[in-house]
Amino acid sequence: MTSPADRLYAIVEQGLCIGCGLCQAVAGPDRVSVTKSSSGYLHPVVVGPLDHNTVDVIYDVCPGTRVDGLPEHLIAADTKIDNVWGPWRRIVRAWATDPEVRFEGSTGGVLTALGQYLLSSGRVEMVLHVKASTSEPTFGEPVLSFTEADVLAGAGSRYGPTAPLLSITEALDRSLTMAFVGKPCDIAALRNFARHDERVDQLVRYWLTPVCGGFGAPSVTDKFVRTLGIEPEALTDFRYRGRGCPGPTVATTAEGSKERHYLDYWGEDSTSWSLPWRCRICPDGIGDSADLAVSDTWPGGSPTRQASADDLGTNAVVARTVAGQVLLEAAAADGAVTIEYDITPDDMSIYQPHQMHKKYAVDARFKALGDAGRIVPRTDRLRLAELAAEMPVSINDYQRQGTARRLAEGKATETRPEIQAPE
Ligand SMILES: Cc1cc2nc3c(=O)[nH]c(=O)nc-3n(C[C@H](O)[C@H](O)[C@H](O)COP(=O)(O)OP(=O)(O)OC[C@H]3O[C@@H](n4cnc5c(N)ncnc54)[C@H](O)[C@@H]3O)c2cc1C
Ligand code: SF4
Ligand code: SF4
Repeated sequence: MTSPADRLYAIVEQGLCIGCGLCQAVAGPDRVSVTKSSSGYLHPVVVGPLDHNTVDVIYDVCPGTRVDGLPEHLIAADTKIDNVWGPWRRIVRAWATDPEVRFEGSTGGVLTALGQYLLSSGRVEMVLHVKASTSEPTFGEPVLSFTEADVLAGAGSRYGPTAPLLSITEALDRSLTMAFVGKPCDIAALRNFARHDERVDQLVRYWLTPVCGGFGAPSVTDKFVRTLGIEPEALTDFRYRGRGCPGPTVATTAEGSKERHYLDYWGEDSTSWSLPWRCRICPDGIGDSADLAVSDTWPGGSPTRQASADDLGTNAVVARTVAGQVLLEAAAADGAVTIEYDITPDDMSIYQPHQMHKKYAVDARFKALGDAGRIVPRTDRLRLAELAAEMPVSINDYQRQGTARRLAEGKATETRPEIQAPE
């Protein structure tokens, strides 16, 4: 019979673990530790006796095995639903009004400005988000922010492994109202966890997310660092982007800093990105279940070298819930955020063609997982079947066969984390 540990490791081995940290919170750190594994990613390692009931809960909350759209009770009657872009009430181009926040931010600093505004206006008592890791400079780590300066310290995108939910138990135990900022998969995980811990819905008042195309494989980031003549172990700080839009990628050691253009790290287009498997088949990179989803606004999805030197940064902001729309409009009225003008889901597809294409392809890719006897992530309210039905059969077949080929080639298979305690 399959052991509880084998079941947990199946999520990792089938490339579905994104390293969010929630299984450690569910099982307790004395039984599961989400840590840097032999593959270089953050993955769960079984360190104590694990039972099937606990693993059942993990399968119900893990964003590798379950991803749902916005809870139905949060979809107000007059909300519009776009098959690609999901529920929306208002979509705008915007930036942080404070020039320092706009500059420090990944794009236009809107997420940072909103986090600061939520604290300064007394809407929440703290913000759970992430900042650069102090121990692994290319990684991110969770942080609880209580001041506007704390929130600003987390500005910028972390394209390395980052586990925001490692701190969720500590955060909930404080019994303080909070906002959560995490990737769409982190948001999905916390929405899942709300079914198991009622404090989530009582305390988490705002759910904010960057639109997310995936993060960089640690091995590729390390390789990039070596091209700068730096051994990854020598890094004291690593900034992927921000301080401009997108701003440079900066590697810092005790000897000083070296920087390259953002495109030198990511490549000139998304086809050269090296993404974890879970990101390649992600059913929700657009933050379907957040109050607000915030993105870049480069037509075609990528900056150009010429334009980026003068780009001050402009976000697109999708308000999905009444709470999200009210927050956005209050932040604009009180001067925390500047709204340029309203846009539509069609504009989002121009800014984010990779998100649109992935959303159309996911249903066929999941079918290939099922064909291969793999875990198929459970989804609801993400419109995946409807989107596939809009596509020609030949395209769906192409996606299904392509995924089947990658599975057969072992591209969706991860090694089992090495450290393991006997059950
Ligand atoms: C892995 C990743 C992939 C992305 N892919 C896309 C994409 O495909 N299309 C697109 O338009 N935009 C993408 N972005 C988002 C984009 O880079 C900006 O983050 C977004 O536009 C918000 O900009 P901002 O200036 O408002 O953010 P900021 O004001 O800089 O705030 C960023 C917030 O996000 C949090 N954060 C940063 N990195 C992580 C992380 N790894 N995990 C959890 N929380 C994090 C920070 O704690 C901070 O609170 C991605 C971001 C990440 C982290
Ligand atoms: S995605 Fe999160 S909950 Fe799922 S196995 Fe990985 S760390 Fe655990
Ligand atoms: S692409 Fe999807 S799975 Fe990957 S980090 Fe982004 S939201 Fe998470």
